[in-house]
Amino acid sequence: MADQYVIAVDQGTTSTRAMIFNHEGRVVAVDQMEHQQIFPKAGWVEHDATEIWNNTREVVAGALAKADLTKDAIAAVGITNQRETALVWDRTTGKPVYNAIVWQDTRTDAICQQLGALGGGQERYKDKVGLPLATYFSGPKVRWVLDNVEGAREKAEAGDLVFGNMDTWVLWNMTGGVDGGLHVTDPTNASRTLLMDLRTLSWDADIAADMGIPMSMLPEIRSSSEVYGTVRAQGVLAGVPIAGILGDQQAATFGQACLSPGEAKNTYGTGNFMLINTGTELVPSKNGLLTTVCYKIGEQDTIYALEGSIAVTGSLVQWVRDNLGLIAAAPDIEDLAKSVEDNGGAYFVPAFSGLFAPHWRSDARGAIVGLTRYVNKGHIARAVLEATAFQSREVLDAMNADSGVDLTALKVDGGMVVNETLMQFQADILGVPVIRPVVAETTALGAAYAAGLAVGYWDSEEDIRTNWAEDKRWEPQMDAAQREKLYAKWRKAVTKTLDWVE
Ligand code: ADP
Repeated sequence: MADQYVIAVDQGTTSTRAMIFNHEGRVVAVDQMEHQQIFPKAGWVEHDATEIWNNTREVVAGALAKADLTKDAIAAVGITNQRETALVWDRTTGKPVYNAIVWQDTRTDAICQQLGALGGGQERYKDKVGLPLATYFSGPKVRWVLDNVEGAREKAEAGDLVFGNMDTWVLWNMTGGVDGGLHVTDPTNASRTLLMDLRTLSWDADIAADMGIPMSMLPEIRSSSEVYGTVRAQGVLAGVPIAGILGDQQAATFGQACLSPGEAKNTYGTGNFMLINTGTELVPSKNGLLTTVCYKIGEQDTIYALEGSIAVTGSLVQWVRDNLGLIAAAPDIEDLAKSVEDNGGAYFVPAFSGLFAPHWRSDARGAIVGLTRYVNKGHIARAVLEATAFQSREVLDAMNADSGVDLTALKVDGGMVVNETLMQFQADILGVPVIRPVVAETTALGAAYAAGLAVGYWDSEEDIRTNWAEDKRWEPQMDAAQREKLYAKWRKAVTKTLDWVE
């Protein structure tokens, strides 16, 4: 199949990308469009789903044009997406009833509290779904739409409204929309809703009833790698099979070839997400991690993962750029950080959406602590980068504790891993080597693999291992005493952010 390729649609938090991969798993072409971040109030984050679908069409056409390819050269389409971001739309008109409510959005705090008050508190559904009750997940966002958009509940109960994460929205539109579009998701996305039973991979009627979500709104859960249907709406790809869906972090895990129990990766994007493959074993977390579906390839057994999700890492760099104007572009943070030797005693805890793993504290808000007259913008830039590394250390410690095995190296990817200062500090603070692969676009690659495996473009997961190649490795250079001293200060800084919101 030398002249065949796989295309992945990566519907991310800040942008939508289409990437074309060859059989070696190398990028042949990419096209990308950013979409608007809508912040109607403090703590609220929305996306215009129509804008996202239009961008999807454009980047798919754009990538094909850049590669000078037509649909005849495309063996399959894979979809990967920002997870948890929830959309409700009318299946008869194809129109969203409200903007997509983004994963970082905290408006559902009261809904989560009410559900917890029914009994069991934050852990009410944890045994079944692997997740604490938190604003992060989709279910309470759907509930919010049904409670707050006029006429939505009646329409939902009449069967006219459907829910989907962005994978489902893209797939439904690609496969025809109002004209017979498929209302389907995969278990990795479904495992982020608070509504799916992790053992049976089916929707849980009791939880849906608690949340007041009609079961008719929920998409069919199929595997992560199978032919769901063919493209109907997108002229440039008409007739090409759509054959893979993975939530972005699971896709990155797959693309990083973390295919055996104990293998882990950390993705540095808007937020950070560390996942460790736990194989067919579903490991409950005692240390603030999520139990989630890693992937399900066709009829094969479900593979699970433990995940540490951090809400704010790369988006803190954006905030320093956009809200403080300290830098003109995200990469400038590195030079500014390098203008000083260390953080000058400053620690920046970016609890903008509360704190996610391993704390799960919606009452936390951000803080910069340790300030003295000595601290300058270089120190702040350093504290910004260090915040990402310290938060990742908290998650790695939780992972080691939950799995009972200490990780000996960490594969990394995402937009921030070009930052060498951060990568070195990360290795120093973790005390294990940090390894970056040649193809750092592992999210799109993972979705491409899921789709390509389903249509026989790749033979087996062995191909993924063979294609994976190391680009660069950072070894820890800091002595252990210094590492633990800095980390203890960070932990103290975290305590200063708690109990801020009543
Ligand atoms: P996502 O997939 O979540 O949209 P990406 O993986 O594209 O995110 O990463 C983009 C993030 O990386 C942005 O939040 C940006 O601030 C950050 N970023 C980009 N370049 C750098 C850099 N050189 N140093 C630090 N952060 C960076």
